[in-house]
Amino acid sequence: MTDGFATRAIHAGQQPDSATGSVIPPIHATSTYAQDGVGNQRAGYEYSRTGNPTRTALEECLAALESGEYGLAFSSGMAATDALLRSLVRPGDHLIIPDDAYGGTFRLIDKVLTEWGVEYTPAPVSDPDAIRAAVRPNTRVLWVETPTNPLLNIADLAGLAQLAAETSTRLVVDNTFASSYLQQPLTLGADVVVHSTTKYMGGHSDVVGGAVVTSDERIATDVAFLQNTAGAVPGPFDAWLTLRGVKTLAARMEQHSANAARIAEALREHPKVSRVLYPGLPDHPGHEIAAAQMRRFGGIVSFLHADGEEAAVDVCARTRLFTLAESLGGVESLIEHPGRMTHASVAGSQLQVPSELVRVSVGIEDVDDLLEDLLTALG
Ligand SMILES: *Cc1c(COP(=O)(O)O)cnc(C)c1O
Repeated sequence: MTDGFATRAIHAGQQPDSATGSVIPPIHATSTYAQDGVGNQRAGYEYSRTGNPTRTALEECLAALESGEYGLAFSSGMAATDALLRSLVRPGDHLIIPDDAYGGTFRLIDKVLTEWGVEYTPAPVSDPDAIRAAVRPNTRVLWVETPTNPLLNIADLAGLAQLAAETSTRLVVDNTFASSYLQQPLTLGADVVVHSTTKYMGGHSDVVGGAVVTSDERIATDVAFLQNTAGAVPGPFDAWLTLRGVKTLAARMEQHSANAARIAEALREHPKVSRVLYPGLPDHPGHEIAAAQMRRFGGIVSFLHADGEEAAVDVCARTRLFTLAESLGGVESLIEHPGRMTHASVAGSQLQVPSELVRVSVGIEDVDDLLEDLLTALG
């Protein structure tokens, strides 16, 4: 029998330490491992870039949470994205990315991969016909986020998995926004999942990390080769912190989602808000697909300020509990202006976001306090 999600989050990869009985996996702060004879390793470890037991515990847990076979941890979400992209595409290949992709992913592809002769086409993740029309003979990867950042568009993962199979491409899902708790893309037919564990998986805004999870042995072997060869690995303390955060993922995501739903409803009634973007709202264009493929609708809410850019910027500066900061997914609430902050690097491109957009990462504080804070800031 497969254990439930919350059980896996607490136990997968985390058996009590066989040497000491330590219930929590120790922080194995070592770069190297004593060998019992030349080439005779005691527990399969030789050097900590290649492998470290604390990292192994995290990797096994992350794989279990995505219902995948192989988990590979990285020093950041971008390091995971980089290793995965470089293992999937070669010069002359083409990939399709969201037309509102995470800014850092766009920058890596647009500024670095194109230098190496890789081509890309941005397409809306919620429009399968547009994605199909963008497929070329040299397309290798359909890269999607759902919900997208910061516009909260929804991709139909099962439908895109079908399209990937028909076109001999690989479906990659950046599952950072949903987290493994709300959505498991591999079970819907995706080939690979990538995470910034910095966000919900770690969940406490205290560690940067990334991960790749897949059940495809070939992809896992290629990514593991780059993980060891390029070496963008998390240290044992970072792996331990992430694993500690993951234990409460299920409970946190329930509360994030409940609080965000309340806030989305309240914003919708507010005269200074012209539009609320939240997949949990019944009139959101992706609502039905999100309801079918996600457990709940997550903790990110974006909205358009009715009075334009300066008013949107002002709201971000006026909150008391919502901290003005980039990033998302921690227990504390954050607010930001994507146009000038997280998405400044896509200004002037096809991925530019509306200037009156505000994004909130709803934390797990008391929702009444959060509501009061946000409504006061809106005036
Ligand atoms: C933050 C983020 C990343 C990048 O992860 P880092 O850990 O910051 O390197 C990638 N994708 C999404 C959707 C993100 O939110």
